[in-house]
Amino acid sequence: MKTLGLIGGMSWESTAEYYRLINELTRDRLGGLHSARLVLHSVDFAEIERLQAAGRWEEAGQVLAGAARSLEAAGADLLLICTNTMHKVADQVEAAVSVPLLHLADATADAVRAAGLRRVGLLGTAFTMEQDFYRGRLASGGLDVLVPDAGARALVHRVIYEELCVGVVREESRAAYREVIGDLVAAGAQGIVLGCTEIELLVRQTDSPVPVFPTARLHAQAAVAAALDGR
Ligand code: GLU
Repeated sequence: MKTLGLIGGMSWESTAEYYRLINELTRDRLGGLHSARLVLHSVDFAEIERLQAAGRWEEAGQVLAGAARSLEAAGADLLLICTNTMHKVADQVEAAVSVPLLHLADATADAVRAAGLRRVGLLGTAFTMEQDFYRGRLASGGLDVLVPDAGARALVHRVIYEELCVGVVREESRAAYREVIGDLVAAGAQGIVLGCTEIELLVRQTDSPVPVFPTARLHAQAAVAAALDGR
């Protein structure tokens, strides 16, 4: 079994979910008392969010690159950045270490293609929905990506930072997300990528008429497959 290195804390609400999912999936595969070998480096999200909002991505990348180096030194064989948004600095993280990084958008694109779908709606932070680092990576994975209109993007972004990242799950926000999903489906989306690791704390398959792709779970599944099968 390989040792996974998790760069987490963005937010810890979803990193806790990663920890649970990776261990559950490992137990499901190996049975008995088996659990995952992993090392976690959890950052202070307030510091990262301040750098994001100021557009200081290079500095945020330095923080994550330092985390990656400490995970490699602690024995991690494979790294995960436990947030979609911070894949904006994935190249900087990869360049800091000699162990591989399992990219969240690749795990997601693989799952969408395996489901036989191509055109997806993408929900996430404004950075993820609007910039190329994530949409472009999904497109290179063979997907057509639709995003909500500007007003809906602002709503989806606000709920992530003001509610989900601080552990607040509101019925009104779930209803608002359902509406955004409905609009994406009406525009042609065959599936919905929950492209922020906290969204799956709010939105379930029952909230969408088309398949949803929960990225924390998909990333955890890909990590366990890589740790146990070398894939
Ligand atoms: N966890 C979120 C994501 O997957 C948002 C928090 C962040 O900005 O890192 O994008």
